[in-house]
Order: sequence, then C-alpha cells, then structure tokens
Amino acid sequence: MTLRVLSIASEAVPLIKTGGLADVAGALPDAVAPHGVAMTTILPGYPAVTKALGKAKAIHQWDSLLGEPARLLAGKLGSHPLLVVDSPNLFSRDGGPYADLAGRDWGDNWRRFAAFGRAAADVAGGAVKGLVFDLAHAHDWQAAMAPAYMRFAPAGTAIPSVMTIHNMAFQGYYGADIFALLGLPSWAWAIDGVEYHGGVGFLKAGLESASAITTVSPTYAREIRDPAFGMGLEGLITTKGDRVHGIVNGIDPAVWNPETDQHLLQTYSWRSLARRAANKRALEREFHLEQGDGPLFVCVTRLTWQKGIDVLLEVIDHLVGLGGRLALLGAGDPALEAGLHAAAARHPGRVSLRIGYDEALSHRMQGGGDAILVPSRFEPCGLTQLYGLAYGCVPVVAHTGGLADTVVDANLAAINGQAATGVTFHGVTYPSFAAAITRTIALYGQCDVWTQMQRTGMKTDFSWKRSGQAYAALYRQLAGAE
Ligand code: ADP
Repeated sequence: MTLRVLSIASEAVPLIKTGGLADVAGALPDAVAPHGVAMTTILPGYPAVTKALGKAKAIHQWDSLLGEPARLLAGKLGSHPLLVVDSPNLFSRDGGPYADLAGRDWGDNWRRFAAFGRAAADVAGGAVKGLVFDLAHAHDWQAAMAPAYMRFAPAGTAIPSVMTIHNMAFQGYYGADIFALLGLPSWAWAIDGVEYHGGVGFLKAGLESASAITTVSPTYAREIRDPAFGMGLEGLITTKGDRVHGIVNGIDPAVWNPETDQHLLQTYSWRSLARRAANKRALEREFHLEQGDGPLFVCVTRLTWQKGIDVLLEVIDHLVGLGGRLALLGAGDPALEAGLHAAAARHPGRVSLRIGYDEALSHRMQGGGDAILVPSRFEPCGLTQLYGLAYGCVPVVAHTGGLADTVVDANLAAINGQAATGVTFHGVTYPSFAAAITRTIALYGQCDVWTQMQRTGMKTDFSWKRSGQAYAALYRQLAGAE
C-alpha cells in the first residue's frame, strides 16, 4: 500500500534555501519514493516560491488564517506534488524567509509560522477535497505548530505525525500574549501543550504533540538529552525516550557527485584523484592565493558561534605557520566577518575569503580543496563534511552530532584498517583544534595515507538510500501499515 505523507517545511531546494533543512526537505520525496511513500510537500508562499509556480491553480482558500486571507496553490517540487500557502501579507516580502534585508527577524514570525502550521494542519486533516494523507511530517520550529494544531483540532485529527529537529538551537519562543491569538483551545496552555517557561514554544508544542520525534543523527539524538545540547528541551526529549530516533541525512548524488559536477573545471572519481589538481589550481586563482603543493583548507559555512568560527579565527595563524592556506566562503555575524577580513589582511596570499552565499563556488571548493574545516560546537547532522567526503576533500571536524557519526578519525588503527576518512577533535577549543590542524598537515605529508583517506571517504555511501528507507519504515510503523 502506498503511504501518503505530507511533508511540512519552511524551505526546500531548489525553491528556497537558507541551510541544510532545505537540502533535506528537497531530497526527501525522492528518498522515500522507492519505499512506497508518496510525499507531498507544503511550503509558505515566499516570492521565490510563488514565482516558480507561475500561474498555479488555487485549490483551497481561507478567509482568515490567523487574520489573513490565504489560498492554497498546487504545483510541483521536482516530480513530486507541492502545495503552497499563498498569503501575500504574511509571506510576500523582500528579504529572507525569516528576516528582512538587514538580517533582522520579522517581528511577526510567530503569526507567519503559526498560520503556516494551521494551514498545514487543515490540509493534513482533510480540509481540502481530494487530498488525503496517512501521516504528516513537520520540520523544525517553523512547521512545529502543525502537529499542535492537529492535536488540538476540535474533532482531533486522526493521522499520526513526525516532528524532526534539524537544529535544537532554533525553537520559536514567544511571549504568553500571543497565545490568545493562536486560535487554540484554552487547554492547549499546558505543560504538555504549547506553554514553555511562561511563554509559547513552537518547537516544544510540536515535540509534545507529534507521535514520534526524529533528529538528523544518532549522536545528536543522544546529545539533546543533555542540557548543553538540549537547550532547555532535554527533559522533554528524555521523557519521550524511545520515541526519539536519529536518522542521518543523505546527500543527493545528482547534485553532489565529482564525476558529473558541472561546476568543476575537471570532474574526477576516486580512481582519478590526480585530476583534482587542476581544480586546486583554479581555486587558488579564484581566491588569489599563492600557488603551491601545500595543503589548501576550505570552509563553507554560516558565520556563527555554533559553527566555531571564533575558534577558527584563533587557529588561523597556526594553520598558516605550518604552511597551510585557507579559502573561506560564508556569511553571517558581522564581528566574525571582520575578524576574518583581519586574518586575510595579515596573511595575503595565504588566507582569503568570500563573504556571501554562492552555491556554485561551494562545489568548486569541495572539488579543489584538500581538507574542509567544520569546527562546530554542535552539529545535528552537517552536510558540508558529507560533501567533503564525497569529493575527496578530507573533513577536519569537531567530534559532535552528525560529524561524529559520519567521519572516521585517522587514528593508527583506522589508518591501518583503511577505515579513516578524516580528522576529528574533542572540544572546540584552541588547543584541540590547533592539534587537529597539526595532525592533518602531517597526514597530508604522507601521500599514501592521505590518498587512502580520500578514497575511503569517496567510496562510502552517503546517498539517501538508507535514510529514505529508515524514514519510510518509521512512517509505516506509525501509520500502522507494516
Ligand atoms: P546548517 O544547516 O547548520 O547551516 P549544514 O552543514 O547542515 O549546516 O548545511 C549547510 C548547507 O548550506 C550546505 O549545503 C552548505 O554547502 C551550504 N552553505 C552554507 N553556507 C554557504 C555559503 N556561504 N555559500 C554556499 N553554500 C553555503
């Protein structure tokens, strides 16, 4: 029996992306399709999304979705069905999905994403003629009110739901005053409802309401039981016990494959690694770095505390002192940007950066860099290390979350067993990160070992096959369709 699943997300490639969530939401329909799941995705109608839809058909309408009129448009996400909540007052704005052009969060995000959740819950509950679903799958706080609205709907919505945490750091927490405006029954204001520390917690409400919780790696699923990672929700996660699953994200080999990547000057495989040299030269030119055979480190990241960029700033001199060079692509915190500019000015030809978001350049960096740095303080799954593995750009990662689950540290046993794929370090501090850089540069000097690490990483299967199967199995179990 084909299972009909409604995937509720605030971004999905190729239509709108600010981070890994978009990669996952965009890839999921294809990933679960071979396992008997027909997935429909529902997105908010940001300008980029409604523009891509063109003259789409409105299949439903709301006179008032938390006070705003809205229509439901039907289109396609790749070859899969897409639904779009078109409410211009809520979603049709210049700027990003969550923030204005100056980077300030929209002041009415609570209303925008409560309305989105409400609309998705209505669709999941059968409000639209001809649309029937067996299960709803909500991603992150922006979609988290959907399971809550489903649970607190007057008649109750019979279908089960899954709530996936892509990043516990973003929870959608608002003041108690919004509760009266959410259109929920008064009994939803409860410790096992939407109430959270005296306010309204969107992610909390979703986690309390969903039939199952997933997060994007087994290690992160364990870590969020700890206050250092659970960010206040560790107690809730611990109580949910075995209803919390960790399923690692996959990568889409149609997009991330060095054998076919159109962004690369030279495509290559694990059999023809020598061809990477041309990409390295091109990258050096592109970043105005000195040409050389020494290790070229790359970093593609949001510039935030989570990503450990402040500690990266501290180790740059050490990296350069050992003969390394660094090319960084990122955007975010202005103070971190300023620190990076200062480092580049200190080390002309050795450290160079591009501030901004550039998908094509990120491919060229994976295809030409020797090693990719991912010093995250926490990392639910992480994608850049997976791309690095697939491209022979050896990941140097903090031992946390999905980074710990996907990179095999080059200790002696792993090197001898030809299992090593990268370098991991414990604790995002100057001494541990600097030691990891020293170790990486030493490994780079041992040509055979380095090539073996690249090959092992490139041959590892990080496609969606296994994860697609795991999601499908969970859906079936919850829908009682085993
Ligand atoms: P997060 O979602 O926390 O930002 P992930 O590693 O899960 O981190 O996903 C980040 C995604 O965004 C990857 O696909 C990465 O290549 C991409 N990315 C991040 N910053 C940039 C940038 N400045 N330019 C291009 N791509 C970027």
